[in-house]
Formats: sequence, structure tokens, C-alpha cells
Amino acid sequence: RSLENGHNSLPNSPLKFFARAKSRSNDIFKGILDFVSEAETFLQDIKGKENEEYKVIHPFLEMVKGIIEKLNRDHMKVVFFGRTSNGKSTVINAMLRNSILPSGIGHTTHCFLQVEGTEASEGFLLTDDSEDPKSISSIKQLASALSTMKLKENSLIRIVWPNDKCRLLKEDVVFVDSPGIDITPDLDSWIDQFCLDADVFVLVGNAESTLMQTEKNFFHKVSSRLSKPNIFILQNRWDLSVDEEDAYEVKEQHYTRNTHFLTDELKVADKQEAKNRIFFISAKEALISRLHEDSKKSIPTGSLQKKFAERLSAFENFETAFEVCISRSAVQTKFQTHSERGKKIIADLKKIMMRTHTDCSKACEDQFHKRKETIDELSYLDKQLDLLTEEMKQKIENTVEKVEKHVSFVLNEEI
Ligand code: GDP
Repeated sequence: RSLENGHNSLPNSPLKFFARAKSRSNDIFKGILDFVSEAETFLQDIKGKENEEYKVIHPFLEMVKGIIEKLNRDHMKVVFFGRTSNGKSTVINAMLRNSILPSGIGHTTHCFLQVEGTEASEGFLLTDDSEDPKSISSIKQLASALSTMKLKENSLIRIVWPNDKCRLLKEDVVFVDSPGIDITPDLDSWIDQFCLDADVFVLVGNAESTLMQTEKNFFHKVSSRLSKPNIFILQNRWDLSVDEEDAYEVKEQHYTRNTHFLTDELKVADKQEAKNRIFFISAKEALISRLHEDSKKSIPTGSLQKKFAERLSAFENFETAFEVCISRSAVQTKFQTHSERGKKIIADLKKIMMRTHTDCSKACEDQFHKRKETIDELSYLDKQLDLLTEEMKQKIENTVEKVEKHVSFVLNEEI
């Protein structure tokens, strides 16, 4: 990966499953929409608007249009948590290979910052209190805008950034950075407002201390609300332990405690899965090396610490595991829901059309024959929905298996 310019699309990225599922589902639902609207016209022609069948079918039009709209807005969402200054913003910036979020400014706002992509060429800001986009052209400007804006606690600032500049944004990943979890947060409203549609949670810890009770409580709450949330733990600032004599023991300790947290306490992973969820990284080094690599400048001496290659590679392993996990979760949760609703609509429609056929007088039989073809088409769309769900599941499972093997192999070598 490091040999490529990080903003180019990677044809084999697992994130592509999401785009594929999105575009195929879109085609299928457009097919369903055509059928519903034909069936509606047909029923209106033969029976008028005042009959039960028409009244049942008519709302399907809006429902299917609603699904298509929702489908087009669907994205993969990752939310970052952790104490102030653990490096959440730096991790996000490193993943985006862009210094988009201001970092190291401490806690100037109690807001959530969301970074999402746009086809526009310039980035802009959107806030809860106004429809008007605010312009941003630099991070400095963003930092000062954030400190001067008067916003309600827990409000959301959307940073809309050009897709061209970040591969992950182009692939439909949305990043959310939370205020430090140490500042007496209202955990329940955080979950209600920002977490229920999250596909992945990343807890950013630091090398110097173990997980805090507030961090743990938050994830206990999350896992009681969402079934088996996907949680990654990044032990950041690992560059700072490089000179510590007991670095190896400290790593073991973090590793054991984090595994215990994910498996025995939260019960969101087994021991094997937990292995692929805990990474010892330095977001700062990853960001510095990527920014210099992309601008083809050499990295200033002293900015990377001893054994930096290990931490950069751990960062890349985290990203690979993350990409598989987020696309699997988003395909399963988002498209499966649409697919189930689509199948229900198809089943109801079929029932009505078959009943109409039986009820139909000789006079409308000719007309019905034409409709028979569309019923066959509908069965075809129904099968397509099944196939799509199955195929995506299969492809993702295969990729997951490969990645898990790879990451476990690397981790076994390291630990
Ligand atoms: P946040 O409050 O969790 O978003 O933390 P920031 O990303 O703003 O980081 C806080 C400070 O820690 C900044 O000065 C970063 O440059 C620094 N920082 C972030 N990650 C690392 C790291 O891996 N190593 C070191 N040494 N410093 C880091």
C-alpha cells in the first residue's frame, strides 16, 4: 500500500463491496419501482382507484422511492472515542492522509466532528444551527472557526471534504470524532445521537495508561444497545515507549487487559477475533510519513522514532482489518434491511396480482397476460435480491478469512 499514492482507488479494497452492493441494489429497486408503477396503472385501468388492491399498492410507490433515496444516502460510518489528547484526530488524519481535523488544540468544543466526502472541489462546513455551508480552506481556519462558533453541547459539525483528496471518503466512509470521553459526557445521548447507525467503533487509548472506567462504561452501554458492536482498540503513542526498558511487558499487559475487555467483559469477540482488533500504533508517525510520501518530500530527521517500521506496519494492518470489518457490517446491516423490505413488497405485490388474475373477468384477461410477463420479472428481481445478499456475504466472508489469517500471522510474529 505504501508504494501507491494513498488517494488513488484501490481496486481490491474490501470497501468496494459496499459500492457494488449499493449500485446493484439500486438497479434492483429501480426495477421494482417500474413494476409497482406498472401494476398501479394496470389496477387503476381495470378497476379504478376505489378498490382495495389499488389502495394497498399505491403506497408501495412512495415506499420504494424512499428505499432508493435511503440507499443513495447510505454510507459506512466509523466513530472514534477516547480521552482528550489520546490522538483521535491524528488517527483520522493519518487514515485520510490529509490533515483535515485540527489536532492538539485540547478541548475547545463539546461537538462531534464528522468528516464526509463531496464531489465538490472545495471543502466546507455544515453546522446544526444553519443550512448555509461555511467555507474552510485551511486547518488553521477550521480550528479558529471551531473555537469561535457558539454551538450547543453535543452538536454535530460536518466537515465536507473533496472526495478527490481522500480515497476513504470517495469509498463512502464517514468518520466521526467525539469530544474527549473524560469530560463528563452524557453517554446515553451520545449513543442515541451518534452511535446507533455506526458500523465500527474505534477506541483510541494511549501507551502510557490503561483503559479508564469511563471508557469501559461507554462501551458497556454501547454493547447493551447494539448487538455485538465492532470495536477496535488502538494503543496509540506507541513511539513513546520505544526507549522504555519494560516496553515488551507493558505491551503484553495492555494486550491481555484489552483482550479481556473485548472477550470476557463486553463479550463482543472471542480470543481469535480480539487479536485482530488490538493494534499498537503511532498515529503521529503514520501521518508524518504519509504526508511526506504523498508530497514526495523526505521526512525530517528525528520525526520517526526507533523501530518506526513496525508501528507503520501495525497501522496498515489495522486499516486492512478495519476495511473488511466496516464493509462487512455495512453490507449486512444496511442492505439486508432494504432487501428484506424489498422482498416483503414483492411478496405482497405478487399476491395482489395473482388475486386480481383470479378475480378478473374474461374482459381483462388479455390485458392480464401482458402483466404475467411482469410478474415473472418480479420473481426474477426477488431472486436477484437473494443472490446479491448471498454473493456479497460469500465474497466478504472469503476476504475476511484471508485478512484475518494475514493479520493473525503478523501479530503472532510480533507478540
Ligand atoms: P485528540 O484530542 O484525541 O483528538 O488528540 P490529538 O489527535 O489532537 O492529539 C493530541 C496531541 O498528541 C497532538 O499534539 C498530537 O500531535 C499528539 N499525538 C497524536 N498521536 C501521537 C502519537 O502517536 N505519538 C506522539 N508522540 N504524539 C501523538
